[in-house]
Amino acid sequence: MASEKLHIEAKKLLPGGVSSPVRAYAPYPVYIKSGLGSKIKDVDKKEYIDYCMGFGPLILGHANPFLIKNVKDQIDLGTLFGAPIEQEIELAKKILGYYPMDMLRFVNTGTEATMSALRVARGYKKCDRIIKIEGAFHGAHDAVLAKAGSGVATIPSSPGIPKDFTKNTILVPYNDTDAIESAIRENKGEIAALIIEPIMGNVGVVLPEEGYLDQIRKITLENDIVLIFDEVITGFRIGMGGVQSRYSIVPDMTTLGKIIGGGFPIGVFGGKKEIMDNVAPSGDVYQAGTFSGNPVSLTAGLSVIEVLETEKVHKKIDEIGGQIRKGLTQVVNDLGQNYAVQGIGSMFQIFFTDGKVKDYEDVKKSDLDGFMKMFRSMLKNGVFLPPSQFETNFVSFAHKKEDVEATLIAYEKSLK
Ligand code: PMP
Repeated sequence: MASEKLHIEAKKLLPGGVSSPVRAYAPYPVYIKSGLGSKIKDVDKKEYIDYCMGFGPLILGHANPFLIKNVKDQIDLGTLFGAPIEQEIELAKKILGYYPMDMLRFVNTGTEATMSALRVARGYKKCDRIIKIEGAFHGAHDAVLAKAGSGVATIPSSPGIPKDFTKNTILVPYNDTDAIESAIRENKGEIAALIIEPIMGNVGVVLPEEGYLDQIRKITLENDIVLIFDEVITGFRIGMGGVQSRYSIVPDMTTLGKIIGGGFPIGVFGGKKEIMDNVAPSGDVYQAGTFSGNPVSLTAGLSVIEVLETEKVHKKIDEIGGQIRKGLTQVVNDLGQNYAVQGIGSMFQIFFTDGKVKDYEDVKKSDLDGFMKMFRSMLKNGVFLPPSQFETNFVSFAHKKEDVEATLIAYEKSLK
């Protein structure tokens, strides 16, 4: 197997043989050569229906021709100028048209977006503490790597982060507003921000219980705490306006990434003018980046949004997501298993645990080895899923009915 050989070589050069931890799995990860539409091909020419979709950005599928053409045209014009470009205005206008923010800044990753949003919120509020939800993943920076989801969920906590760096991070379970209220009582006047993935996407998919997000908005307003919705996964996926539009909630700040870069590196943080005015060079809170707002990512982002606006992308991907959840629930029931199938729109996951999953503790009860056994079997049966119980599967605009049918057959074989 070419992948196995490459992995042996890569392990000598890259920690774990990979450039990001969740890409590694036993016995060796498949090396991907190309992608088109809903499918990817590995270096041994084996084809897979893909539900990883680059961990979310590829809402249009692989190598969307319109996007690729626009990006190629931009590349011919140059890839980086270190000077303002028109597309910054165009994409900012587009994003601000869908999200209730006055201003935003382009950065390069979701990690940078949440790191900068928290810095700005702290600078604005002039205090240091933040509230974070257990199991939420906001990227790999120090303040939020406490009880984080995604790849970090598989290790106890990361060495190398001084206790001083996380002492201001207060952890509360998801779907629990009492815990937030008591954290606020215990830290009166010291909390700058509450950061939340309004729909959790880094512990599988976990949805907010009725009224939870409204309640959070109410509590943060009453206590003058900056509410940050991290919609790096859900932005432009749960409809154009993300979870906040679906649930009619206006946070003070929003972070975005993934989809708005059309498969190229990007991140965004933004919010109310009085908060964003604190960002350098308007204000004193420093934030900067060589590649921020680069022409390639912005062109790709504008192309994705154009397709989302002109074709019924969300209607289609939500329908396909619904078909998979329904079909998978049926498969699980027919096999007499109690596994939970959860999701919303184009996001879905099966949890190797009984009953509904409502927070990180519930997900942790899952049979993780069992999940990986299923993952490997799915791979053998031609379906590429994100390789962890703590991730979400993504449907793209390129997925078709035939993909759903083949996927459900693969699940049936694998779950047996
Ligand atoms: N926030 C959320 C909700 C995420 O899911 C992720 C990454 N999966 C990040 C932030 C970090 O984004 P990036 O990997 O682009 O740094």
